[in-house]
Amino acid sequence: MIEGKYAKGSHNKMHPLAYDYFKQMVLAALNDGLALYSVSAYRSYQDQDKIYQNYVQKDGEEKARKYSAKAGASEHQTGLAVDINTCFTKDHFENTKEFIWLCNNAYKYGFILRYPKDKEKVTGYIYEPWHYRYVGIPVATFIYQNKITFEEYCDIMI
Ligand SMILES: [Zn+2]
Repeated sequence: MIEGKYAKGSHNKMHPLAYDYFKQMVLAALNDGLALYSVSAYRSYQDQDKIYQNYVQKDGEEKARKYSAKAGASEHQTGLAVDINTCFTKDHFENTKEFIWLCNNAYKYGFILRYPKDKEKVTGYIYEPWHYRYVGIPVATFIYQNKITFEEYCDIMI
C-alpha cells in the first residue's frame, strides 16, 4: 500500500521494489521543491475491466483502446506502473516543472516515461506524460540515453 504522503486517490498499491524507488524519487523531487504523487498504481483485473468498459461506453472501443488497456493488458496490473501528478497546479501535467524534472531524473530511480510523444506508432498508445513504469536503473538509463521506447529496447535486446 502506498502511504498517504506519496499518493492520492484509489488503486494505490505497488510492487514493493518499484515502490521503494518511487519513494526515493518523490523525496528527491521534494528536495528540489517539487511535489509528486501517485494518482494510480496497481489495478486488479476487475479494476481495469471497470475502467476500460467505462471508456468504451463513453468513446467507443475504437477510440478507447488507444488510451486505455483491456483488462489483462494493462501495465498497471504488474504493479510496476504509476500515474504521477502534482498538487500545486491545475495545469496539464505536461506543462509543470514536475514533469520536466521527471523527464530529466526518473531514469535515476529506474522509471521511464512509458508512452512518449510522437511514439504512438511504436507503443500503440497516445502520449501519456503522467504514466511511468519501473524497469530498473540500468534499463531506464539505457532507454533515457538512447531516447527510445521500451518496445524499441526489447527489439534491440531480443
Ligand atoms: Zn497509467
